[in-house]
Amino acid sequence: MPLKLYNSLTRRHETFEPADGETVKMYSCGPTVYHYAHIGNLRTFTFQDILRRYLRRCGWKLLHVMNITDVDDKIIKNAGEKGLSLTDYTRKYEKAFFEDAAGLRLEKPEKIARATEHIDAMLRLVERIAEKGHTYRSGGSTYFKIASWNDYGKLSRLDAKGIRAGARVDQDEYEKDDARDFALWKACREDEPHWPGPFGAGRPGWHLECSAMAMQYLGETFDIHTGGVDLQFPHHENEIAQSEAATGKQFVRFWIHAEHLLVEGRKMSKSLGNFYTLRDLLEQGFSAEAVRYLLFSTPHRKQLNFTLDGLKGAAAAIDRLRSFRRRIAGGGFAAAASPRMSGQADGAREQFFAALDDDLNTAQALGAVFEYIREANSAIDGGTFGQENAAEAGRLLELFDSIFDVLEPPREGRLPAEAVEARIADRARARAARDFARADRIRNELAAQGVILEDSRDGTAWRYAD
Ligand code: AMP
Ligand code: ZN
Repeated sequence: MPLKLYNSLTRRHETFEPADGETVKMYSCGPTVYHYAHIGNLRTFTFQDILRRYLRRCGWKLLHVMNITDVDDKIIKNAGEKGLSLTDYTRKYEKAFFEDAAGLRLEKPEKIARATEHIDAMLRLVERIAEKGHTYRSGGSTYFKIASWNDYGKLSRLDAKGIRAGARVDQDEYEKDDARDFALWKACREDEPHWPGPFGAGRPGWHLECSAMAMQYLGETFDIHTGGVDLQFPHHENEIAQSEAATGKQFVRFWIHAEHLLVEGRKMSKSLGNFYTLRDLLEQGFSAEAVRYLLFSTPHRKQLNFTLDGLKGAAAAIDRLRSFRRRIAGGGFAAAASPRMSGQADGAREQFFAALDDDLNTAQALGAVFEYIREANSAIDGGTFGQENAAEAGRLLELFDSIFDVLEPPREGRLPAEAVEARIADRARARAARDFARADRIRNELAAQGVILEDSRDGTAWRYAD
């Protein structure tokens, strides 16, 4: 079956293949590095990882670009308050983002593009838009004139004229001719970070960043653009307007938007303060694999309500998968294979592909594998599972893990013994200072890294979990 993806631009499920039949050119809006990413952000990035892996499984090569937004109003404000340069302020969170991404086993896109390293490309794009007559200047900033672009609104299907005057299309508060217009290049105060250029000293608008970097690496028309649903309007709408106004060509073929992670019915967000970071959950003793599993187990176009019980369920699901894998590796099966179980393995494999071909229906793909495991376990119990069936089961788990990647223990391998000893000494100090919360945190962190502590009167002994 061919891969079908829901395209937000056409509002239809469409058969996907790359335009050149070989390499998928894909762009993802990356993190704004002014804070640790929360697991809502990480849900969107986990979806992108599943998409990447499945596209490759379909036989295509990948050229995937993700940006790092390392300059914007919030970053400038926070860095200024802390008396740090933009670089000093943002690199800490960028590093933390990649640590979290590695913990969640997210493959690194082929190209990571920092906004501050692409200012020239952004200025050239503003020049092209200006040459076509879609810009004006006001108060030192340069704006995109939405009234001059008839196609505005085609992604979110908003009637451009219907966007009320006064409705904010952009976050900035500069003087514009029309409330709908958005800044391409923003004037800024002398003491703020800025770059020189034909439009006066200033900094790029956020929407401009993504268009310029995407086109630099992927060309004027490319295959897939992803991001969370909150970015559809105005961010992606503005990306389309400015890119297509500059080139006269279609910017993106498939727009794919991931739904939100919710907490008690509300979007998980930094501004609401209702968020967890990956670090928070590791401290509570959950594994990064369990978080990964929870985040991908609901298909990307459905909202996912985050609960700690859901996370415990994800950890239990991984345990079931791992213990089945141990069981089939254990051997001792009959020489004769069960044709019924071979049929079940083939069926599970077909259902797995059919589910992912259907707009990456991860929940159904997982269901197919668990159904097979249930059948296989009872065949093993009943002695009707042959050595060849075990090999088939192993191949199914390999296929499963090439996309979902939760079966192997953490890639970094075991925490070295010296590091374990150092953490145990820290914990002993915390206990001596009666800081039991910290002591528990250390125990939980170690547990999440596969180290079990056993306290006795003689001190603390430890062992690796497996
Ligand atoms: P940001 O770092 O705020 O630029 O966001 C990075 C990505 O996370 C974007 O694709 C957002 O759409 C996405 N995002 C933000 N909040 C959530 C959420 N609660 N659930 C899922 N994705 C989100
Ligand atoms: Zn973007």
